[in-house]
Amino acid sequence: MIKFNIPPCTGKETEYIAQAIADHKICGDGRFTEKCNKWIEGHTRTQKALLTTSCTHATEMAALLCDIQPGDEVIMPSYTFVSTANAFVLHGASIVFVDIRPDTLNIDETLIEAAVTPRTKAIVPVHYAGISCEMDKIMEIAKKYNLKVIEDAAQGVMSEYKGRPLGTIGDFGCFSFHETKNYSSGEGGCLLIRDKEMIEKAEIIREKGTNRSKFFRGQVDKYTWVSAGSSYLPSELNAAYLYAQLEQAQIIYDDRMRSWELYYKYLSPLKEKGALSLPVVPDGCKHNAHMFYIKAADLKERTALIEYLRKLDICTVFHYIPLHSAPAGSQYGRFCGEDIYTTKESERLLRLPMYYGLKQEDVRFVCEKIIEFYQ
Ligand SMILES: *Cc1c(COP(=O)(O)O)cnc(C)c1O
Repeated sequence: MIKFNIPPCTGKETEYIAQAIADHKICGDGRFTEKCNKWIEGHTRTQKALLTTSCTHATEMAALLCDIQPGDEVIMPSYTFVSTANAFVLHGASIVFVDIRPDTLNIDETLIEAAVTPRTKAIVPVHYAGISCEMDKIMEIAKKYNLKVIEDAAQGVMSEYKGRPLGTIGDFGCFSFHETKNYSSGEGGCLLIRDKEMIEKAEIIREKGTNRSKFFRGQVDKYTWVSAGSSYLPSELNAAYLYAQLEQAQIIYDDRMRSWELYYKYLSPLKEKGALSLPVVPDGCKHNAHMFYIKAADLKERTALIEYLRKLDICTVFHYIPLHSAPAGSQYGRFCGEDIYTTKESERLLRLPMYYGLKQEDVRFVCEKIIEFYQ
């Protein structure tokens, strides 16, 4: 059986978790959390990185930091995970969905301006498959209308746009360390903060609305409740697991990239014949091999292909049901303009097995079977 995903484990995870236990420090913000934050800050060159319990929670923190209020509108693609929208819906925002580009499946930057209204507060670009949205254009619109930009970079750890790490271009960036992502702590995430002024507020929101972080740094002599907040910090056990992987980040990256390139090479003849579509990486984007997907002709062909591969013990998956067509999507949001690509492309997309340690012969086998299917 070729699985779709196997959570990454590079070797030192158990040792680091054992160290956290031996240190008698297993709650949040111990030395492993600090190591992870520093590693992320160093590699992304961002002002501040704060480990969180998930990307969902990092996005919720960003919504709080942007002071999202009932009635505010937030622009995002409909082709994304529910958390992208939920983080804002929880604060009473109404979601304005914009169509995606057929090449990258990212929000179509040329349609965003038409979706802006006097109530618009933020734009949330989702870097699908770790391939960047057109950030120059998005930042230009945000500047023109004074909007916040929160990058959903859940899939974009180690990816870049014109040399800038994803998650560091907008006001806030959100990473995921869920077990299905490139680097993992089981459940986990990180909030990246671009502007210094937001750091203290973010630390307070993350620590139950208290100034505990300042207290630990010796900047105040007692800690107290200073604003609304929640508990967004992961345990040291999660951070210890994650740190083992961050240390090996380049090895994981190279391994995934090798699989990605092999898929691309083996499936290119089918693409040349026009049988299926392969991912597109625009100029200026450095991706991270988060996923390898193909696009079949339509829903019927995709369903047949999934079944064909399943019988050969090859697991493939698809996503997302476009949010605007989900029950909560019509309740909390509206689609702006015409849905030309969102539904159509989502019905064609199929994700192939991709994980750290995937064997080259397995990639070859999957490709051979796809080629057979199309014969
Ligand atoms: C995985 C994912 C999330 C959610 O991440 P969690 O860490 O599970 O909360 C959000 N957005 C996108 C695009 C994702 O792929």
